[in-house]
Amino acid sequence: NNAQDKPFNILLLPGDGIGPEIIEQARLLLIQLSDQENVSMQLSAADVGGAAYDKVGQPLPDDTLEKAKQADAILLGAVGGPKWEPLDISVRPEKALLGLRSQLELFANLRPAQLFPQLAEASSLKNERVADLDLLIIRELTGGIYFGQPRGVEGEAGQRVGRNTYIYHEDEIRRIAHVAFKAAQKRNNMLCSVDKANVLEVTELWREVVTDVARDYPDVRLTHMYVDNAAMQLVRDPKQFDVMVTGNMFGDILSDIAAMLTGSIGMLPSASLDANGKGMYEPVHGSAPDIAGQNKANPLATFLSVAMMLRYSFDREDLAAQIEQAVAAVLSQGFRTKDIAANGAINGDEKLVSTSEMGQL
Ligand code: ATP
Ligand code: MG
Repeated sequence: NNAQDKPFNILLLPGDGIGPEIIEQARLLLIQLSDQENVSMQLSAADVGGAAYDKVGQPLPDDTLEKAKQADAILLGAVGGPKWEPLDISVRPEKALLGLRSQLELFANLRPAQLFPQLAEASSLKNERVADLDLLIIRELTGGIYFGQPRGVEGEAGQRVGRNTYIYHEDEIRRIAHVAFKAAQKRNNMLCSVDKANVLEVTELWREVVTDVARDYPDVRLTHMYVDNAAMQLVRDPKQFDVMVTGNMFGDILSDIAAMLTGSIGMLPSASLDANGKGMYEPVHGSAPDIAGQNKANPLATFLSVAMMLRYSFDREDLAAQIEQAVAAVLSQGFRTKDIAANGAINGDEKLVSTSEMGQL
């Protein structure tokens, strides 16, 4: 097996705020995994975000970008914080994320919304509608209305006009569709494509191309839904979905709806992939400056991001499942960081733990 012979070349980018604390726990997890499972890994690290700005005056140093290009996969903590908010937008920590995404052509953003049944009380819809929720939203990340030309604000007939253009090329739709069908095959062979094909010609093309790509995946059941209905259905009955695929703007909105359904920001991982399975993995939450340096942050979103890395970049479903089962087990035993505490441990017996204690469980 090829995947097992070649060392996994993983770049760690701790970043800012709680980033270094949670990435340190992930590093220990990776080392433990390579010892136990005899997986060969090559770990390296680099500066990114505000931490990099403080050292060299830019959030994405050339050296970091070079290492990112060499790596098979990247694990990012978080970037940003109040310290860097006064900076010019061109050197803000968040710029590093946009730089990495565009330079590495990470066009496919995978956002699972998973609610461990042990945390069902935490959700914003405290009931059986979301207990056990496990869906995956795939958002096209490098095209659509956020990048279409022309754009800008112009003066016209006595008033200003703001303009953005919603553009998708056939090949951009095709490549995100392939990612989505493959992800569906790794799960339950169900895919819902979300568009607004009744009104927008660009999404009529989206629907046509996705339908065409479906012929390569006869085992996957494809359905289509208009985005307004999808938003409503996500809130009404989210468990009807397994994998959803959509464009950049609709995906931005739908993935935030799905995240809020779970109500546990410290638990949500994400992945951004290129065409060859190389990826950048990061928790959905931010740098949480309010609790940084206090050993309070929940490292589980980062651990679940490591699981996604093993699944999508290294094709090691076995190791991914092992991590996910370990996360479920510590929750079942009642262990909680502060953010997910008081959500009703199954036996009413919660044990409050720190970042590093959670990491060692
Ligand atoms: P961004 O602007 O980067 O999207 P944000 O500043 O809006 O993020 P976060 O940094 O995610 O939001 O923090 C929001 C709240 O959630 C804060 O109160 C923070 O302490 C809490 N939080 C975020 N991540 C975690 C975590 N891993 N563990 C515990 N609490 C967290
Ligand atoms: Mg923030």
